[in-house]
Amino acid sequence: AEHSKTWTYVDGDWHAGNVPLLGPRSHAFWQGSSVFDGARAFEGVMPDIALHCERVNRSAAALLLEPTMAPGTIAELAREGVAKFEPGTALYIRPMYWAEEGGYMGVPPLKESTRFCLSIYETPMPPVTGFTATFSPFRRPSLEVAPTNAKAGCLYPNSGRAIMEAKARGFDNAIMCDMLGNVAETATSNIFLVKDGRVATPVPNGSFLSGITRARVIGLLREAGVEVTETRLMPSDFLEADEVFSTGNYAKVVPVTRIDGRDFQPGPVMARARDLYWEFAHGSA
Ligand code: PMP
Repeated sequence: AEHSKTWTYVDGDWHAGNVPLLGPRSHAFWQGSSVFDGARAFEGVMPDIALHCERVNRSAAALLLEPTMAPGTIAELAREGVAKFEPGTALYIRPMYWAEEGGYMGVPPLKESTRFCLSIYETPMPPVTGFTATFSPFRRPSLEVAPTNAKAGCLYPNSGRAIMEAKARGFDNAIMCDMLGNVAETATSNIFLVKDGRVATPVPNGSFLSGITRARVIGLLREAGVEVTETRLMPSDFLEADEVFSTGNYAKVVPVTRIDGRDFQPGPVMARARDLYWEFAHGSA
């Protein structure tokens, strides 16, 4: 079989590698009308692939784009893509919608004249085991100021500058607060703390992506009898925690090993959540 490093599905076909797609009239390029999702494939499993494909369609609709493919069809294509790699390769799977052409003089993507495009990009990506973080001077916008109900490309320059600022101070990632000063999420994932055996995580208020992995882990922990509350959390709550961990499609469940001046040991509740997640992932293949 032919094994290329990356594959892109676009316009009804798979192409080896990255495919150049945009021109100066592309609405996505000019006005940021692109949405994406991130799923993963590991040995034999694609955890919650159906939910990731449903969310990319919801993200498209939230950004006034037309989702042109059923989530089930996107998932089938994603699976078809995975089969192009060496069996067992850890992959990142990125379905995207964007607006082309139409709306070249208008700010919103115009439904009558716009071509709504879908691509699926798949590339090998090794697993991640944990990271350090710092409280960011940058904040998460609310739904009133940004389309936070979509996993939209246009939200990520804010995450990008937070990560760059954190890296400049020697940390891997940034923990971001909302405009009211409540902890929201990291620049790339959701965040949980453990105190006295109980788990807490910020309550969704439109300021952060309420992740698919987050919901899965909350459900699994509760089923296992662990108390999980969604509540307002301040930076000090995290600095005083026994454990801190993160959830997201990319790294799944991993410990946060340092926040600013405070070190954290990967703890038993994080390990429980991580084991429950992988049990679920292998059971749902
Ligand atoms: N927050 C942000 C900003 C993210 O980019 C991600 C990754 N998609 C998450 C949270 C985690 O969401 P999920 O578990 O759905 O991947």
